[in-house]
Amino acid sequence: MSERPDLCSEASSGLLFREPLIFEMGAEGRTAVQVSPEEVEGWRELLPPGYVRESLPLPELTEPEVVRHYTRLSQWNFCVDSGFYPLGSCTMKYSPKVNDLVASLEGFTGIHPYQPLQWIQGALCVIYELEEMLAEITGMDAVTLQPAAGAQGELTGMLIVKAYHEHRGEKRRKVLIPDSAHGTNPASCALCGFEVIQVPSDTRGLLAPEALETRMTPEVAALMLTNPNTLGLFEEDILELTRIVHDKGGLVYCDGANLNALGGVARLGDMGVDLVHMNLHKTFSTPHGGGGPGAGPLGVKAHLAPFLPAPRVEKGPNGFALREDYPLSIGRVKAFYGHFAVLVRAYTYLLSNGPQGIREATETAVLNANYLRVRLRDVYHLPYDRICKHECVFTDRNQAPKGIRTLDIAKRLMDYGFHPPTIYFPLIVKGALMVEPTETETKETLDRFIEAMKRIAQEEPEVVRSAPHTTFLARLDEVSAARRPVLVAPTP
Ligand SMILES: *Cc1c(COP(=O)(O)O)cnc(C)c1O
Repeated sequence: MSERPDLCSEASSGLLFREPLIFEMGAEGRTAVQVSPEEVEGWRELLPPGYVRESLPLPELTEPEVVRHYTRLSQWNFCVDSGFYPLGSCTMKYSPKVNDLVASLEGFTGIHPYQPLQWIQGALCVIYELEEMLAEITGMDAVTLQPAAGAQGELTGMLIVKAYHEHRGEKRRKVLIPDSAHGTNPASCALCGFEVIQVPSDTRGLLAPEALETRMTPEVAALMLTNPNTLGLFEEDILELTRIVHDKGGLVYCDGANLNALGGVARLGDMGVDLVHMNLHKTFSTPHGGGGPGAGPLGVKAHLAPFLPAPRVEKGPNGFALREDYPLSIGRVKAFYGHFAVLVRAYTYLLSNGPQGIREATETAVLNANYLRVRLRDVYHLPYDRICKHECVFTDRNQAPKGIRTLDIAKRLMDYGFHPPTIYFPLIVKGALMVEPTETETKETLDRFIEAMKRIAQEEPEVVRSAPHTTFLARLDEVSAARRPVLVAPTP
């Protein structure tokens, strides 16, 4: 069996390069730019004594060497623009270039938040209208765009939950979180000083009303739910769940990072949810994955709106204004108005798709995930074999007897030109392999992925266990890379 599959696409070809450090390249005396000593005459006198460096061990290269080095580095990657990236829970959909085009218009890039309000009416309009659109999509009454990421949206939401109960003179210190929740949920609660109580999901992979009922005491501030949950399953009892919480005076927070499964079809606000955050850098198509800026807007129902971060954009008879005087506000969570360029991209995406387009995106995302689920379930074990939403979770149970584990399958997929899916998450599924295709992939791409997954299941175990074979590095020591990173190039 070939180690380099004929099915392999060109997508990961950049990973073949063995690119040296720039310090290991070039030769003494080489330069890209010629500067004669006469041109810089007198520089020594301009610098304070003690600041003059007689030698600087920088690499010496020609211009083409520099250009080629950095061009190769820029391709030394795998991205949504080069291939299929089915990373579960991350919604790695293709981001249309028109979003970037609009975000880079001079009228947006050339303004500053300290400019007089009458000069930035257009920017305030984008903020105001984007808040309105996101409120409509989630069924909420008010939205803040300040949070910089999903996890910060959660933090903002839980600070509001805390402020709300304190304002009513209630001491509620506990938050219920199902074991199928995203890991950021308990972390956000802990940061707010809440005690987290984990609630087990049932054999359906869902939160059962009975499991909630027994734990829903007057000390509980909120239920923090991810819907669809991290198994990609819709919490079918949500109406009953939100009723139980409200009956005992609690609030329901929904982690809406998985909105790609609901947008334009169902609204969390109509299901009794009081607060929900969204990930613009997932559902609303602004680039992510490189640790760059994101946005995690938070939507709330009217009774929580007074607690939202200030300032807020208001529409008045003389245009848009910023209002600061919200006495119950939890305050700012981010400088200025959030990551504005990310907001412009999401605004562009929403306007260019319209309500019908958003609905179709959701329907296609769900269809694609179910297509993969059904076409692969004979080969890979499906712990919860029921209709999923935008992603599905397989395991390595069928392959384990041959000595092939989830990590091996993920690594081998790279040889076929695919970014590996999310692995070993959610934690409640042993050997999880979580696939989220998104709506932006064609049926041909999905079929090629299915074919690759099926072939991997038939390959010689040793070929899979030692994969990837087509990249210049194979199995990295990820623990050492995280704990003992080498951040400085060794000096020659
Ligand atoms: C991605 C994600 C988060 C965290 O979002 P960040 O922007 O990475 O902070 C939270 N919950 C769920 C369900 C997610 O998928």
